[in-house]
Amino acid sequence: MERITLKTTRRQEFLEITPLIEDIVAKSGTKNGICHIYVPHTTCGLTINENADPSVKADILSVLEQLIPENGRYRHSEGNSDAHIKSSIMGHSLSVIIEGGSLRLGTWQGIFLCEFDGPRTRQIWIKTLS
Ligand code: ZN
Repeated sequence: MERITLKTTRRQEFLEITPLIEDIVAKSGTKNGICHIYVPHTTCGLTINENADPSVKADILSVLEQLIPENGRYRHSEGNSDAHIKSSIMGHSLSVIIEGGSLRLGTWQGIFLCEFDGPRTRQIWIKTLS
């Protein structure tokens, strides 16, 4: 298993991690298989979506905030219930096909870490299987 450690800079943001994952796939030597990507956290997530127009990630964050406001009526006393809920909605893992030594993503797709309770130091665990 490989690990990436990165620091987020805002409470909520989407960070594109596609090049970091591509580097790990290249170093792994896996030509054909699956890349499994996982975040071991309860207030961030992973998603695949458009990486061409930054308005898309802004819109996703905006709609999540409308649906699950930071200052809603929650029981969890830590004050970050919205982040836990958004994390579960987005999910903690992704699997992407590896073909010819590269990730098989659609033309407009990128892989994003979704931060909902930053700034924090986050880990991403990656395993390639052939
Ligand atoms: Zn909490």
